Amino acid sequence: MMVFIENPNLLIEEFNKMSAISQKKAFITVGIEIQKEEIEILENYRKELNNLKKDFVVRNLENEANLVYCIENSLLAIQYELQMLVNIKEDKMNEAWGNLVNAQVIYGTVIRNFPFKLETEKGYLERLSDYEKLLFPKLHFQSVGGIIKNSHCSICNQKPNKCIHIKGKLYNGELCCRIITEIELEEISLVENPANKHCRIISIEHNGKKIDVLTLREESTNT
Ligand SMILES: [Zn+2]
Repeated sequence: MMVFIENPNLLIEEFNKMSAISQKKAFITVGIEIQKEEIEILENYRKELNNLKKDFVVRNLENEANLVYCIENSLLAIQYELQMLVNIKEDKMNEAWGNLVNAQVIYGTVIRNFPFKLETEKGYLERLSDYEKLLFPKLHFQSVGGIIKNSHCSICNQKPNKCIHIKGKLYNGELCCRIITEIELEEISLVENPANKHCRIISIEHNGKKIDVLTLREESTNT
């Protein structure tokens, strides 16, 4: 049982309201200027949340800090979703793909760490996966294999064998990551379900031309 000193219900209520409003604007038919405005509103609200989180951290209210992290990042996922729609309308497809992957990764972290039952839990990830299937062609991914020579924990800066933190979990409002500082590259392979969907084949060669896999446009030769 998780103990909260500060009542979390007010925060959660406000979050539900915010995300409901934002999600009404996350359709491809909604005016681009309205979506851009919503992105800015979310950006500013997240800054406020970030200050609130810092306040909780200073007061050593870990559960509260973690809750604010989750709320802030749920909204960040929606912000990326909106940004993806804007980028599609502005014909920036590589950026749009990056936005979608960011939304998926961030929301995955939220689901793993949210202290209460999340109403949208499965639904939102499914929504993002529907975008992936409907809006983008089937992409091919790469996976980098190698031996990690040097890494440390983002929370305590210790080497993995000395650290008690779990990768992907929140500690005092901060996400624990393994920071790899040295890797011995062994192979790069093509995979179906990659750990990192940013790592993808961007163009293919066809009749001596480099074709962008998202737009099918010939890539400019100076790159
Ligand atoms: Zn650690």
